[in-house]
Amino acid sequence: MSAEPSKKKQDVKSTRNEYDVIVVGSGVGGTTVAREMSRRGKKVLLLERGGNWTALGNSMANLMVMQWSPLIFSKQLSAIYCTSNYGGASVVSCGAAVPPPKKVFDKVGIDLSVETEEARSEMWINKMPDVLVGPTTLRLLECANDLGYHWTKLERFVDVNRCVPNCSDCMLGCPRGAKWTGRIYGDDMLRNGGDLQLNTKIMNIIVENGKAVGVQDSKGKKYYGKKIILSAGVGNVGLLRRAGLNEAGRSFAVDYLQFIGGVIPHMNSVYEQPMTIGTQEHYEEDGFILVPVFTNWYFLAILLTLKGPWHYSWLKNAFRSTGIMVKVQDELAGEIYPDNFFYMASKTPSERDKKRLKKGADIVKRVLRRAGATDNSFMELPPMGAHPSATCRINDTVDKNLQTRIENLYCCDASVVPESLGEPVVWTVVALGKRLAKHLDAQLA
Ligand SMILES: Cc1cc2nc3c(=O)[nH]c(=O)nc-3n(C[C@H](O)[C@H](O)[C@H](O)COP(=O)(O)OP(=O)(O)OC[C@H]3O[C@@H](n4cnc5c(N)ncnc54)[C@H](O)[C@@H]3O)c2cc1C
Ligand code: SF4
Repeated sequence: MSAEPSKKKQDVKSTRNEYDVIVVGSGVGGTTVAREMSRRGKKVLLLERGGNWTALGNSMANLMVMQWSPLIFSKQLSAIYCTSNYGGASVVSCGAAVPPPKKVFDKVGIDLSVETEEARSEMWINKMPDVLVGPTTLRLLECANDLGYHWTKLERFVDVNRCVPNCSDCMLGCPRGAKWTGRIYGDDMLRNGGDLQLNTKIMNIIVENGKAVGVQDSKGKKYYGKKIILSAGVGNVGLLRRAGLNEAGRSFAVDYLQFIGGVIPHMNSVYEQPMTIGTQEHYEEDGFILVPVFTNWYFLAILLTLKGPWHYSWLKNAFRSTGIMVKVQDELAGEIYPDNFFYMASKTPSERDKKRLKKGADIVKRVLRRAGATDNSFMELPPMGAHPSATCRINDTVDKNLQTRIENLYCCDASVVPESLGEPVVWTVVALGKRLAKHLDAQLA
């Protein structure tokens, strides 16, 4: 039974050194560290700027968890997702489980194999039976393999006993609790005696004698702790810059993705679980993955508008289309502007990113064609960034222990990955959080 997070938020005191660990941001990075430290008997405070939206499985849930970010764009008008809610982006993730890419972490000398397996056993990771995959998605699998590609069922962090057929609501927040999210670890932390304070936006790091000793919220209240962990996603950049770490957010990754839709007569994947199958066969060489998933109707309307209002008539296909996504490892570029009122970031796909997207899109169209879609039914939506990451990279803003130049100040979330992962992020961030907890435990001993 989950503890009710909001009930514990009232009586946090501003006492110095009250906490062993203060974690800012309750996405998977923050909840993993907080939960791991509470399991080790440490006094933990988890601070989250958003609330705890529980009416999941509808478009309003998606907007509330994502802080209306489907409407937030980079300077170049491409959409970039950010969240503001208990559990962060994991609440609206698709549920695709991909382990940390070895090629990325080998380069920085980090081995996450132990933590990856530990997370696997806790995150309900498995493949879906056919009944939860759905007939259209199974048809895509068959067509791709007929064409000589190597598509398979993919792992997901979804409990098959609670998940139901003909449901595609994962990105609206799972209303049945069948999808693993950071809230599972957050609730675990509460049961272990940790504190969660929602609706608390942290504005500044308190630094004394070169060491981080606490944080201050937007109302001026101060919280003190021995170790300060920033797990605020893109929000880390403003906090670090205000603390003098100006290198943060000078370039970043977003794992550009592009949805390609088509209409296959007499079948569609609109009500089928996303990302249950796909392929990583192009990842090592070409830096992209292909997975069936498409956007919901309201975000489709936004993306069609961005593509050009003359494409708007394609909206009629919203409930009869089948979509496949290409997601690429993009080049580090652009900048985060934490204090800009009009746009939060500036970034466009590089020539290499565009080539990767095109190569992936060409394969997607072959598969859709084979499944019966005609070329005039295709819709290639504009690329967008679903995984803002690598803003405070390992070996750049943080060291291998995820510590910044300021002693006792750490980052732990998707912002520390050393480069674009180009594939689902959650499992990697959980593994990083578990690894950091071991380091903190040793430091606090
Ligand atoms: C639509 C969508 C689908 C996805 N699907 C998948 C998938 O299938 N599989 C997968 O592995 N990954 C997926 N991802 C990516 C994955 O969900 C995210 O990359 C990951 O959850 C990020 O976790 P995080 O801990 O880095 O940060 P976040 O989830 O961004 O959490 C940061 C938290 O910090 C809080 N915060 C920010 N600033 C402050 C502040 N100043 N004070 C206090 N709190 C603050 C925010 O409110 C937020 O809750 C998806 C992402 C999206 C958007
Ligand atoms: S498909 Fe399964 S995991 Fe996804 S929202 Fe529906 S019930 Fe939840």
